[in-house]
Amino acid sequence: MQGRVAALVGPAQVEVKEFEVPEPGPGAMVVRIRRANICGSEVHIFHHQHPLIRECVLGHEFVGEIVALGEGVTSDYAGEEVAVGDRIVAPYFLTCRRCRACLRGDFNLCRNAYAFWSQPAEVAPHFHGAFGTHYYVHPEQYFYKVPDGIPDTTVAGANCGLTQVLFGLAQAGVAAGDRVVVQGAGGLGLYATAVAHDAGAHVTVVERIPERIALARRFGADEIVDMAEHETAEARAERVAQLTDGDGADIVLELTGVAAAFPEALLLARPAGQVVEIGNVSLGARHEVALAPGLITRKALTVRGLVRYQPWYLHKALGFLSRRHADHPFDELTDREYALEDVGEAIQREEAKQVARPAVVPTPA
Ligand SMILES: [Zn+2]
Ligand SMILES: [Zn+2]
Repeated sequence: MQGRVAALVGPAQVEVKEFEVPEPGPGAMVVRIRRANICGSEVHIFHHQHPLIRECVLGHEFVGEIVALGEGVTSDYAGEEVAVGDRIVAPYFLTCRRCRACLRGDFNLCRNAYAFWSQPAEVAPHFHGAFGTHYYVHPEQYFYKVPDGIPDTTVAGANCGLTQVLFGLAQAGVAAGDRVVVQGAGGLGLYATAVAHDAGAHVTVVERIPERIALARRFGADEIVDMAEHETAEARAERVAQLTDGDGADIVLELTGVAAAFPEALLLARPAGQVVEIGNVSLGARHEVALAPGLITRKALTVRGLVRYQPWYLHKALGFLSRRHADHPFDELTDREYALEDVGEAIQREEAKQVARPAVVPTPA
């Protein structure tokens, strides 16, 4: 059987390539991609601004359906039996369990995380990314069966955006009654709003785009700081202070990917509060920003940078969606579907930061 992938062959150059779909080796599986999302980090990869990934098969947020199981694969990483036809989600990275990071238990920092994703499509087993008709799940890759009842449109964002913020909020120790500020109401921000809201926190969202503000309210935002109304970082800090009895936020999540949002986060946090940096992922002069480190010292802030997640948090994300998928409009996070041939156009749409994420549906039913 032949399959196709959207391969990045140069900066902003996408080609659809065809390969024989491989038989899975022992411990591996092959899935058919039911639906994939375009995540903000795909834009960085598209422009060759990712520190590790150049030529590759694009795509990492997805839900798949098992088409072939390798020898020995009978259950997922939660012990649930799996069979051909089941829907699964998987972290988009490997967990080798042999490198220094894995040795420490920091599976999210595995040095071999992108051993395949960072390879050109020509390298077997070819189906390294989610923008393809098929995807190869390696033996070193966790995966979980998707519970019945969660729609594809909702679960497709679980293995990146949702699990990333769930992991971030768990690392920050979010508790009922905490005051959480979410910077940015794109996909990550809306997921974070829902998770923090459902944990019992008071959630304030900082955003400018009216459609995103409207969505943030439906995902559980208690307060909005509209950047059109509060135009400077100082004005927004003033507003957050008003909303928190003059104190500031217990936890600030930076989820915009805009460098200037980070020093602003330092202003929004309360003394001894936490700033969780997830959104900014690019390096280099274009992504630098001026700040006074003394602000971190004087406010005794904890700054926590996070990349990827411990793989079992994806299982928690599925549990969260099982209980809550009907409470918030998760299915509205993607608002337009693209074929594999149009992946480049879809990424440019995501780059324009319009309302919601584009989705890629490689094999329309
Ligand atoms: Zn992502
Ligand atoms: Zn490792």
